[in-house]
Amino acid sequence: MEVKTAIVCGAGGFIGGHLVNRLKSEGYWVRGVDIKENEYGNTNADDFVVGDLRDYQLCQSLFDRPITEVYQLAADMGGAGYLFTGDNDAVVMHNSALINLNVAEASRLNKVKKIFYSSSACVYPEYNQMDPQNPKCTEDTVYPAAPDSEYGWEKLFSERLFLSFQKNYDISVRIGRFHNIFGPQGTWQGGKEKVPAAVCRKVAEAEDNGEIEIWGDGLQTRSFLYITECVEAVRRLMESDFMGPVNIGSEEMLSINDLAIMVAEIAGKTIRIKNIPGPVGVRGRTSDNHLISQKLNWAPSRPLLEGLTQTYQWIEKNVNATRNPSNENQVLDTAV
Ligand code: NAD
Repeated sequence: MEVKTAIVCGAGGFIGGHLVNRLKSEGYWVRGVDIKENEYGNTNADDFVVGDLRDYQLCQSLFDRPITEVYQLAADMGGAGYLFTGDNDAVVMHNSALINLNVAEASRLNKVKKIFYSSSACVYPEYNQMDPQNPKCTEDTVYPAAPDSEYGWEKLFSERLFLSFQKNYDISVRIGRFHNIFGPQGTWQGGKEKVPAAVCRKVAEAEDNGEIEIWGDGLQTRSFLYITECVEAVRRLMESDFMGPVNIGSEEMLSINDLAIMVAEIAGKTIRIKNIPGPVGVRGRTSDNHLISQKLNWAPSRPLLEGLTQTYQWIEKNVNATRNPSNENQVLDTAV
C-alpha cells in the first residue's frame, strides 16, 4: 500500500507538534517545518526542516518528494496580550499573509492533492459577540465581515486565498476555524500564551489563599477545546468530502473568572481573583457545532474539566521545574 505523505507547517508549535504525532500514528511519512524546533520536543516527524516559510525558495525546497497533503498551521500568533493590543498588527498581518501565499503557491505547483488551513474563531464579526451570554458564531455569520483584530482579518483573507486556489486550480482545500485550543505542550509563558495556559501558570505560581490577576472584568466568556479533540476533528475534516470552513471548538462556554475558579479547584487552592485592565477581545465567544456535527458527526467527547486537569498538571510541573532546573528534562518528556 502506498504510504501517505504530509507536510505540517508550524510543526514546531503547539497544534502542529501534536498533529505530526497523530499523522505518524496513522502511518504517514511526515515532514515538519517551522522557524524553530519544537519547544517541548513534541514531534515524531520523519524529517524536520527549520526554515522560514516567508521565504518562497524554502517553501519550494520542501517538495523534493511527492507530497499528498499539506497542513498549514504556521502563523505569527499568540494570546490576547500579543494579538489584541494593536502593537503587533503589522508584523502579524505581514508574516502570516506571506506564509499563506507561499504555502498555497508551492503546494499548487508541486501538485499537492489536499491542503488543510487553520483559520480561527477570530474571523467572526464583533457585532455578534457583544453579549457574553449569547454570542453568535455560526459559520454563515462571518459576513458582513467585522473581525475585532487584524489577526482575524488576515485569517479571513487567507481563507479566501485557499478557497480561490481550490476554485481555480486542481487542489482540494479544507478549512477549520479553531476556537481556543489548549493542552500540554502549549505556550505557557513569555507573552504569547493563551488564556487557559496563562491562568494555569498564575494559579500554579500562587500560594494557597493568594491572588491572581485576570484581565478585564472576567465576565467575558469563551469555550476551550482540548488538543486531542482538535486533532481528531482536523483529521475527520481532511478525510471527508466537506471542505468547510467549519468551527472546530467546544460549546462548553464559561466566563474567564469561572475558568480561574475551575483551575483553582483543580489545584486545590483558595485563590482571590483581582480583575485588572488589559486586552480582552470580544465580550463573548463560543463554538457553534451544528455544522460539524451534521457534516462530520463530530463533537468533543470530554468535558473541559478533564483537559484542564491534564493541562494544569503539566504547567504546574513546568513552573516547579523552572524554580528547580534539575527537574526540567522530566517535564519536557511528558506526553499527552
Ligand atoms: P503556535 O504559535 O504554537 O504555532 C505556530 C507555529 O508557526 C510556531 O511554532 C511558529 O514558530 C511557526 N511560525 C511562525 N512564523 C513562521 C515562519 N515564518 N516560518 C515557519 N514557521 C513559522 O500556535 P498554535 O496554537 O499551534 O496554532 C496553530 C495554528 O492554529 C495557527 O495558524 C493559529 O493561528 C491557529 N489557531 C490556533 C488557535 C489556538 O487556540 N491555539 C485558535 C485559532 C487558530
